Amino acid sequence: MDSRKNHSIISNVFYIVRLFFSITPGLMVVNPLISIASSLPTRLVAVIGLRYIIDKVRTGDTDGIPFAIAVIAGIVILSESLRSVVFELYTHKQREKLSLGLNAKLYDKAASLDLSSYDDPEFYSDFILTLETSGANIEWISEQVAQYLMEIISFFTISAVVLTIDWKCLVITLFFVLIFIPVGRKHGNLLMKRRVAVTEKHRKADYFARLFYLPDYAAEIRMNGLSPLLNRRFGDAADDVIKTQKSYVIKIALLDFIQSGGMLIIGFMLCLCAYLGYSALVAKTMSVGDFVASFNGATMIGMSVMQLTVQGVRNFTERSQMIEKFRVFLAAEPEMKDGAHTAVSGKPERIEFKGVSFTYPGGEKPALEDINMTMEPGQRIALVGYNGAGKTTLTNLLLRLYDPTDGQILIGGRDIREETILSHRDRFAAVFQDFRLFGATMGENVAMNASVNKVRVMESLQNAGFTKELPDGADTPLLREFSDDGMMLSGGEEQKTAIARAFYKQCPYIILDEPSANLDPVSEYELNLTMARAMVGRTVVFISHRLSTTRHADKIYMLENGRIIEEGTHDELMALNGKYAYMFNLQAE
Ligand code: ATP
Repeated sequence: MDSRKNHSIISNVFYIVRLFFSITPGLMVVNPLISIASSLPTRLVAVIGLRYIIDKVRTGDTDGIPFAIAVIAGIVILSESLRSVVFELYTHKQREKLSLGLNAKLYDKAASLDLSSYDDPEFYSDFILTLETSGANIEWISEQVAQYLMEIISFFTISAVVLTIDWKCLVITLFFVLIFIPVGRKHGNLLMKRRVAVTEKHRKADYFARLFYLPDYAAEIRMNGLSPLLNRRFGDAADDVIKTQKSYVIKIALLDFIQSGGMLIIGFMLCLCAYLGYSALVAKTMSVGDFVASFNGATMIGMSVMQLTVQGVRNFTERSQMIEKFRVFLAAEPEMKDGAHTAVSGKPERIEFKGVSFTYPGGEKPALEDINMTMEPGQRIALVGYNGAGKTTLTNLLLRLYDPTDGQILIGGRDIREETILSHRDRFAAVFQDFRLFGATMGENVAMNASVNKVRVMESLQNAGFTKELPDGADTPLLREFSDDGMMLSGGEEQKTAIARAFYKQCPYIILDEPSANLDPVSEYELNLTMARAMVGRTVVFISHRLSTTRHADKIYMLENGRIIEEGTHDELMALNGKYAYMFNLQAE
């Protein structure tokens, strides 16, 4: 996953423009054109148009003035409305397309990455940031690139116009613009620093604000009277935000004053005006129209240069860090590779763990050590042991969510790494400890697929012991995300829905992590019966802390600190009178 290297700002800007261009080439061409077409005419009118009218008035030749005013008004109105018309008809739709296309790329990439990516905190937080900010970044970057191109063209065009009036005007203008660039840069850096500092403080305030409205915290906040404490923490964080803002005010205002005051007042209003006034009124080398045109041109040149240098560099520097995250994320490659074979999801075969050890990325000690076990086709295998013994990790390795650090897992005599990852996983139905239901119909939640066999969904729910009436059968919507009458389920009913997935999927191997954790004793008993009946002929691996469910397993493995410490049938382990027997007797009491 380590493609973290910093590219230059220019390289990052080109990268993102190329990426956007590959999704919506039209937008990347039209955006700058619109920016130029909607801004440049207005700027030119302020220079050339005004000059024309003033000179006409001065010379008393007023004939062409109404026509000139009409043309100017037309240009201004046309160019102003052009942007909004194109935005409504084209840009808006294309931006959606860009956003969808880019997000599809990001989601595809996210789904292709190993589960271990989530164990790398830096990568994970960058990943979240990339997904969360992609919409805002798209808008900002495509606008800024267009604006930047527009400013380049505007700079050269207006400079050329000023040059035709008097080259010394251009020299004076550029001189004052350039000498105030360092102040502008300082001002910009300070703005950026303030934004970073404030964002950081905001994050804390936002966290406490979130606690008030997220349903996950609602019950605990009410039960424990947490409101005053959280309110106080929120207030402290908000005070911090204000304090941080205040600490920058004077410095920023001062630099702003020096920059604008220096460039506009001393540079343009005093020095440039003095020169222009002398040329127009004393030396008579230029007209009054030229005076106005040069002055307006100077302010526009100043604006363009500041945009292209200080603001542009600052903005792109800031965004470059975001683009870098996009880049790292899209360049990340899964470390787990596909094998050459396609696994067949037919009859179950023997599963063997041979000397398997595994340490989580960044983990200090192995979660599993030297695991050797055999699961014969059609057996029911129970994994038991204390919390943190390594049971879930073992099933994660079997599903190839992680690869072992040492040793081999074989199915039908072939190392599972020799199969393609998808075809291997497709042989399994897995119900995880922290299963999730989705805002979709009951049928889709069970089938986990858009094509739903409704009869099989209802059968699977029945096998899982789901008895609640479904008003629209498999079409009943679950959760309230999209439907006000979406059905809300109890913890046990949710678990039965998740278990129904295992009954539904026609595959040789089933993994159930704590299938009865939320079930009442009757449901648990019934689940054991249906599992024995409906899953016959399939290999079932289940993790359970309730040892009543393990009695009928064909083989039980007891794990402790990542190792198998006992194995056998329930009767064999009871006769052994070891840790399993101790746990079983304790629960029986
Ligand atoms: P439980 O009965 O509580 O579900 P378990 O036997 O299933 O526990 P595992 O979840 O396999 O235990 O965890 C085994 C060990 O691996 C634990 O010490 C745990 O802290 C560690 N572990 C689990 N997941 C990760 C992870 N993503 N990164 C680092 N360590 C992990």
